[in-house]
Amino acid sequence: MFNEMAIEQPIRILGAGPSGLAAAINLAKAGYKVEVYERNKDCGQRFGGDLQGLENWSEEINVLEDLKQMSIHANFYNKPFTKITVSNGKESKGISSEEPIFYIVKRGNMAGSLDQGLKEQAIEAGVRIKFNSSLPAGQADIVATGPIMNQLAGIDKGIVFETGTEDMAAVIINQKAAYKGYSYLLVTDGYGCMCAVVFGKLNKVNECFEETKKFFSGLYNIEIRNCRGVGGVGSFSTHNMFKANSQLFVGEAAGIQDVLAGFGIRSAITSGYLAARSIIDGTDYVEAAKKEFNTKIRTSLVNRFLFEIIISNDALVRYTMKNLFVDNPLPKFRRVYNSKLLRMAMFPLARFYMQKVHRNLKL
Ligand SMILES: Cc1cc2nc3c(=O)[nH]c(=O)nc-3n(C[C@H](O)[C@H](O)[C@H](O)COP(=O)(O)OP(=O)(O)OC[C@H]3O[C@@H](n4cnc5c(N)ncnc54)[C@H](O)[C@@H]3O)c2cc1C
Repeated sequence: MFNEMAIEQPIRILGAGPSGLAAAINLAKAGYKVEVYERNKDCGQRFGGDLQGLENWSEEINVLEDLKQMSIHANFYNKPFTKITVSNGKESKGISSEEPIFYIVKRGNMAGSLDQGLKEQAIEAGVRIKFNSSLPAGQADIVATGPIMNQLAGIDKGIVFETGTEDMAAVIINQKAAYKGYSYLLVTDGYGCMCAVVFGKLNKVNECFEETKKFFSGLYNIEIRNCRGVGGVGSFSTHNMFKANSQLFVGEAAGIQDVLAGFGIRSAITSGYLAARSIIDGTDYVEAAKKEFNTKIRTSLVNRFLFEIIISNDALVRYTMKNLFVDNPLPKFRRVYNSKLLRMAMFPLARFYMQKVHRNLKL
């Protein structure tokens, strides 16, 4: 339990990504002195202007409302998307939803990005962010340093560009275009992002991205101006380290990720919030994190196992396109991300298979 003496000591957070800043904002708002140490010269430097999806399907509650309840306000660009086209490279299917399927956000250090929005909220709450700085091992109260480099599960490579093409969101599930993953094309307000996400054999990403470009240009007439490269990696574990000695681990640094598709922003923010609450309320972060994430992380591994079976067979891909990607898909997506008994029963088999195929993962 933190006492009044402790409140005079700054809480030290390592890493100014979504998880670290969510923790910092909540602690500062509760009256704590907070210092965030960020090795880069600004927030969002990990990214280069990528468009990413703030998913609206892992919980019943709308994601922006969820963030608000965690004291995070949507002061960043967020465009609700209610339509997606899904393709296996040959057949395409458009689906629409009454609720936003996701909100497109920008990642990077440009104005309007999620990263800059969180930075502004942190500074306004009184957080001191020390850029170009770090801390010696073991000295942070909260570790929020992002992916664990020896536990990489996936890699993303692509381009961002200016365009006159209308707003759109398209996904291709095809192993040539994205080995064990998927390709995506997002266009919003004259700005586009086209990427291939590859799982397992990360060295395939360059050839996959070349195929992704061919697939998308075969399917759509996309205008691309002033393009530049973007990308990055993601890690995953089911042996999550939420605490070591007295340090709390949040976001990808704790192995919290969605290994099916890599949608980690929402859970990164949630874990930062939970770590802050545990300090403010004197509650047990490990208990709270296990309750929030253990089932989700295991479900995510089972989802990846099933996905890797599905993509090895064209008929199964078509079946999934027909039955999962339907109009108003959120109830189905929520079941995929939250279903308990059946998927949990498959966890030992999924772990056995995944450990054999993805040998670097700690499962
Ligand atoms: C290309 C790509 C596309 C993605 N698309 C999506 C998407 O569409 N939707 C989604 O939900 N998720 C997506 N993700 C995942 C999402 O970006 C991450 O899950 C999320 O950013 C994790 O937040 P975090 O705070 O845990 O870590 P990070 O965002 O990685 O933040 C960690 C911070 O810590 C800093 N840091 C690291 N080590 C140190 C150190 N030793 N000292 C000081 N500072 C340090 C880093 O510079 C960084 O600023 C994508 C990831 C990639 C790579």
